[in-house]
Amino acid sequence: MGLIRLVYASEATFDEQPDEQGIEPHVGRILMASRRNNPNLDLVGGLYYGDGHFFQCLEGESDRVHDLYNRIRDDERHHKVTPLFEEPIDDYAFEDWSMKYVPLDASVAAFLKQRGLKGFDPFAFDSATTRAMVDMLRRGSDRAPAIGSADSLDTDTVSPGMERAGLIVAAVVIGVVAIAVSWFLI
Ligand code: FAD
Repeated sequence: MGLIRLVYASEATFDEQPDEQGIEPHVGRILMASRRNNPNLDLVGGLYYGDGHFFQCLEGESDRVHDLYNRIRDDERHHKVTPLFEEPIDDYAFEDWSMKYVPLDASVAAFLKQRGLKGFDPFAFDSATTRAMVDMLRRGSDRAPAIGSADSLDTDTVSPGMERAGLIVAAVVIGVVAIAVSWFLI
């Protein structure tokens, strides 16, 4: 078994309700589950959601990618789940991301216009467009919900490294406060 990259497209079954920060709540929950689960399986990838369509790239050990893909396929938040391509890889393209989410709205608009496409419909992509889309996903900045909070949708660019740094800072601050309080009580 080796590493593979699997790319698929699907159509959302929910009615879009973007919040004031522009992140669809269903998509936010999907991202949180992905970021919780994928690291345990050494899976990485990228997700784009636009015009009612998902476009996702999954990378990892072949068995694990296929197991996850089968689970995703059964998710009733989307349908028409269609594999676009699958290939063996030597290296991860999304190495640092359990699931990168890129709202590439301006870039995608330019990308589609360049190719004479009216909306984001990955089912209509030819092979070159699909690969160009994966590359765009890889290069774009992540914008994703903060992990662990269903209601907290963070509009900042947050990488796993930044999240770890935030947790460390929070732990240090709590430690300092605890020492100050115990010192005060003695
Ligand atoms: P849970 O903690 O059970 O669910 C997380 C949240 O999603 C909860 O709020 C729950 O209410 C809601 N939810 C879960 N399943 C459904 C459902 N079928 N319909 C409606 N709401 C639901 N999962 C991954 O682990 N990694 C991925 O990369 C990934 N990518 C996805 C991409 C797409 C386009 C979609 C639609 C789903 C994706 N999922 C992914 C979600 C996957 O289908 C499963 O829902 C998830 O893996 C279940 O994991 P869990 O038991 O930890 O989630």
